[in-house]
Amino acid sequence: MAEPLRILSVGAHPADIFDQSGGTMAHHAARGDYVGCVVLTHGARVHDKVISDEMHHRSEVPEADELQSLMAERSDVKAGEAVRACNLLGVEDVYFFGADDAVLLVTDELVRRLARLFRQLKPDLVLTHFPKEGDGLTNAHATAGQIVLHAMALAGGVDPGDRNPPHKAAQVFFFGTGAAAIPRSVWQSEGGYYNDLFIDITDVVDKKLAALDCLVSQGYGGAYARKRIETSDGAFGMAGGVAYAEGFIKLNAETHDFLPVTPRAMAAARASDHELIEERSYRVRVD
Ligand SMILES: [Zn+2]
Repeated sequence: MAEPLRILSVGAHPADIFDQSGGTMAHHAARGDYVGCVVLTHGARVHDKVISDEMHHRSEVPEADELQSLMAERSDVKAGEAVRACNLLGVEDVYFFGADDAVLLVTDELVRRLARLFRQLKPDLVLTHFPKEGDGLTNAHATAGQIVLHAMALAGGVDPGDRNPPHKAAQVFFFGTGAAAIPRSVWQSEGGYYNDLFIDITDVVDKKLAALDCLVSQGYGGAYARKRIETSDGAFGMAGGVAYAEGFIKLNAETHDFLPVTPRAMAAARASDHELIEERSYRVRVD
């Protein structure tokens, strides 16, 4: 490879970048590529052990001031977990934007701040949520994807106060659709989209599991992390013909000089059905 790639993964909530791209980030970091992450919201309201779980069972929640400081405290806990998870994946650069996850909106402030980071970090490849996820309107993941696209457009030009020159990325890979249903053929793209790229993360799935285990405040540590690996990465793997995978959706069509075919596709074409089933059947040790 001529020069290391620069990759930036942008998630709405603290767990998203790990759920959706943890294995892929680990691969690229181990290869010597630059890998950075952005967490747009503090995520203190989403599945938080204290805010969304304990408060749920109280007859009354604390006064505004107390609740605010409790949320700030929980945000720090979540950020600490994300930093530990990144370290396990070999990723050192993580930026917390700290936006409130009550209502995530495409705001001028978030777009400008992210655009500045794009000009500063100069990512070749950007990973983020599909901008039409869910209903594409009120879904925080979709909004995050939209913020990223606006920021990338802005980063392609200058902005007074930012001395970094304009920057354009080469490709965007949107996080794949959820594991409950994984469309994977062009026929299933009618009115929607489908996972058109899988990254085989089988060799680093234990690292990803350890990273998810760090997200204790999210309720991930332990059983859920294992369930998540099997039902999400295992399902992506089944769709991609390997044991565990992460699915992505390319923003731009690719242009090649010749028709592309991957070594994996060639090998799979020459393998028997039983050999293919065996490859998919590997399970990570869960304890
Ligand atoms: Zn999320």
